[in-house]
Amino acid sequence: MTGVLLIGVLWAQISWCGTDRYSRKVVPDQGLSIENPPRLGLFGCTPSRYVIPVVFHVIHSGSSDSIDYNRIWNQMLRLHEDFRRIPETPGFSSAGADMEIEFSLATKDPNGNPTTGVVYWRYDQPPLNWSSPDFCADDEDYSMKLATGWDRNRYLNVWVVPRICFRGWTSSDCDACDLVAGYAFYPFFVNIEYGSVVGASYFWGGHPLRGARTLVHELGHNLNLPHPFEGGCDQGPCTTHGDGVCDTPPTAVVDGNFQVARQNTCNQDSPDLPDNMRNYMDYVSDRNMTHFTLGQRERAWSAIQATSSALFPLAQSSVLWQTGTGPYGHVKAYFAASHRVGCPGEPIRFFSYSMGMPHIYRWDFGGGVPDDPSSPCPTVVFPSPGLYDVRLIVENLSGRRDTLLKAGYIQIQDTVYPLPYAESFEGNVFPPQHSYIRNLDAGRTWERSRSLSTPRGAYAASPTSMRLTFFTYSSYNEVDDWISPAIDLRPYANPSIQLRFSWAYACLNFEGQVNGYTSYELDYTDTLRVYVSTDCGHTWDLLWERGGRDLSTHPDGCITARGSVSGTSYFIPSASQWKTDSLLLNPYRGEVIRLRFQGISGWGNTLYIDDIVLDTLSGISASMGAFPSINRAYISEAKLYFSTQAALPHMAIRAYDIQGREVWRESLNDIARGEYRVPLPSFLSQGLYLVRLEAEGEVHSIRYWHAP
Ligand SMILES: [Zn+2]
Repeated sequence: MTGVLLIGVLWAQISWCGTDRYSRKVVPDQGLSIENPPRLGLFGCTPSRYVIPVVFHVIHSGSSDSIDYNRIWNQMLRLHEDFRRIPETPGFSSAGADMEIEFSLATKDPNGNPTTGVVYWRYDQPPLNWSSPDFCADDEDYSMKLATGWDRNRYLNVWVVPRICFRGWTSSDCDACDLVAGYAFYPFFVNIEYGSVVGASYFWGGHPLRGARTLVHELGHNLNLPHPFEGGCDQGPCTTHGDGVCDTPPTAVVDGNFQVARQNTCNQDSPDLPDNMRNYMDYVSDRNMTHFTLGQRERAWSAIQATSSALFPLAQSSVLWQTGTGPYGHVKAYFAASHRVGCPGEPIRFFSYSMGMPHIYRWDFGGGVPDDPSSPCPTVVFPSPGLYDVRLIVENLSGRRDTLLKAGYIQIQDTVYPLPYAESFEGNVFPPQHSYIRNLDAGRTWERSRSLSTPRGAYAASPTSMRLTFFTYSSYNEVDDWISPAIDLRPYANPSIQLRFSWAYACLNFEGQVNGYTSYELDYTDTLRVYVSTDCGHTWDLLWERGGRDLSTHPDGCITARGSVSGTSYFIPSASQWKTDSLLLNPYRGEVIRLRFQGISGWGNTLYIDDIVLDTLSGISASMGAFPSINRAYISEAKLYFSTQAALPHMAIRAYDIQGREVWRESLNDIARGEYRVPLPSFLSQGLYLVRLEAEGEVHSIRYWHAP
């Protein structure tokens, strides 16, 4: 026996893919050029670029080990969700690429007669006549496929067998059974063997850890994608070495990664990036797999376009009619919206990801007005506040139809907050009222961080802040947004408007042993971006971006961990480990805006945000430092202290709660130069306030945590 074997004593309990056994003889060394890969967008309105007809052959010994049509159909849906990276399904990952490839279940057999796309074969009857339901991949692969497979120029054949067996390490018997979940052939130099084979217990609805994505992985092989761990830390050019894909960093774990670990087992890649074990083509369990990459998409498309590949005839549009697939096959409605919280009159974009290449789209937005109600991706305006159901009916050329209803899917708000707007997350409701979180992958996201015993808010001045626990994310490039309520800058033509916010962050610098492999030193770094929108979230302007050591507020930059990452590497800021930055938003005067705080995971360390304040500054002075009239304004023990540089005719002191409501006001007249102390009101309830002093056109804003 030669080649890399996946069957070993260590892994006997974790079955996986047997493709490597065959790859030695069928993987061509192909060069690929990956030039200027497109940026990953979160949404797209691209129809499936390629549709590939599929037929399933279920080999069984009776009723108990047979795969019913329902499981086949659910597997087809999972394929669509994963290959099209559909938002609000398990197939979505911010890190991943929409492969734009659709697998379509045949509705016509090779003779043009109707079919379910599933063919059932008894193992012990012609044409198979096996002596046992155990399928020996070493001996029976070719004969099974020759006897049962449909025309390779029109169908991609998938076989589901009761158990996949191989010859064991030491014995010549084909008795190593059910250790391998599936295997597949690459699309070059094969004909009869082309397709995927899956053991029944690893098919959709089977094994809890490996019962949904075995076929996603195997079809990846059929699309010419090797395992990302192919070749280990091979130092050759990434287009021709390893898996032939440049954006899947190499891993030294040549038997595949079965567990998700923070690891960088190869440092020959440039840039040096952590291992990509969450890729569909690695070995982690179904729920830990998240994505294909753009580089893998390029490689798959190249294989489909190569006339010498087995994929080439399958992706021809003439095959769709013959096999009853694509627009002549099944339909399933899918859609998602660019954002689910909006404002009256502001556009929201909808995206259909429906299966079956529908040509008829009928939307119902329950009062929302689309620009084109028959478009797969309409832009919709909702005139008034409320909660809206959205329904999509799709129909394709076969006359088949499907409906998807998402109840209460869109929320339209008309609340607009006045200045000063202040949010420090002290309230019990998170996200705070009228703000919202966008978390398309439905994984970890922004959360409230609260510690009463040791205040963890900005500068330890309050117990609460908002955070992203990147330390525990375990995935890269996941995007999470917190979006503020609408804030009214319409009344302000002249004064400078300043956004101020505080953050605390430390990246993680890690090296050590991971699963017996050396993990090279690497900074695991995350990114924070701040955006503003004047059209209620339809489009966003990037105002501020920092990541990694630039984002860090920790004196050491990153927290260093060696050997193993323990709880002590989890960043919890002290009072001095906060920073504040401020941005002028003068170009947005006269508009209603929303702010967006976006975190992008690099599986680094926890990021905290606090004390977001949007307010006017003095019309003349944009700098917080230069105040000619009032000096040294601060609050201590419920008293406001300040000194005046000259006599002032008038001064106003106001306090606002975190919703921006004025809760207290004091007017002072004919103030002599000197130092002052003003008690703050005792009737305020516990919480965060913003106290503003205004005199001679100057405005001082002071954050104040009131504890009665
Ligand atoms: Zn594999």
